[in-house]
Amino acid sequence: MRVITTVQEMQEIIQQVKAEKKSVGFVPTMGFLHEGHLTLLRNARKENDIVAMSIFVNPLQFGPNEDFATYPRDFERDRSLAEKENIDFLFYPSVAEMYPSEASISVIVKDRTDVLCGKSRPGHFDGVATVLTKLFNIMMPTRAYFGKKDAQQVAVIDSLIKDFNFPIKLIPVDIVREENGLAKSSRNVNLEPYEREQAAALYRSLQKARSAIEEGERDIPELKKIIETTILNESQGNIDYIEIYSYPELKPIDKASGSIIMAIAVKFSKVRLIDNIIMSVK
Ligand code: AMP
Repeated sequence: MRVITTVQEMQEIIQQVKAEKKSVGFVPTMGFLHEGHLTLLRNARKENDIVAMSIFVNPLQFGPNEDFATYPRDFERDRSLAEKENIDFLFYPSVAEMYPSEASISVIVKDRTDVLCGKSRPGHFDGVATVLTKLFNIMMPTRAYFGKKDAQQVAVIDSLIKDFNFPIKLIPVDIVREENGLAKSSRNVNLEPYEREQAAALYRSLQKARSAIEEGERDIPELKKIIETTILNESQGNIDYIEIYSYPELKPIDKASGSIIMAIAVKFSKVRLIDNIIMSVK
């Protein structure tokens, strides 16, 4: 595995790889790797000649009162975890390398941002779409791997790829969880130990709603109530949102039917966690 820190060197390497007609699997991350990231890498390894991961904590996608400064970082740990996955390139640029001057152009996401994390985190998806436009141009991947934990992000990237004609296949990957059901997240280290236990209530609440649907419940307010009651009874987290929408359109629905997402965001003392279940309802 080679660690590359400059855009120019990364582009020269990728151009060489493409000239050799090799496929490139790309896994963009913000580092502090866990099994979720490693699962994306393993899928990429199976399906591509060359695998590249980026580690870049992108300031553009954090709001002024968000956790950019405290976002966990440990490059040496990440490097050794990545090395074990037998990947080819680890792209690790600095902020100054990615944004040498204030950009004169940014990507604005117009659709699907007035809901879920887009609503709670104004500008977040513009930052995600802008950095991914840059990373896609640098890495020119054949396939790009993203986790369904960030389901709204997957929907936005699907549009980015289609709207801007990137010749890239988007591969969404299932959520990887702790034994207690908590979705793996780099941010989990910033949970207090008691919060880590309580945070398992997020997935339990979604599972209860899924069971209710399987038993015939279709009423959206009723399903949201099931989720809310579980989170309030089993944790001290503050609910940011509980929403049920069509997926991937992210439009409000009258009743649970077709492809839907049940998505939640809950704030603990230092961390805001998200989780979701996407399911098909007959
Ligand atoms: P991040 O480093 O948090 O920006 O995540 C990088 C990629 O890993 C994104 O595509 C995430 O959706 C994905 N990811 C993060 N956590 C998980 C998880 N628990 N399961 C599957 N994918 C994940």
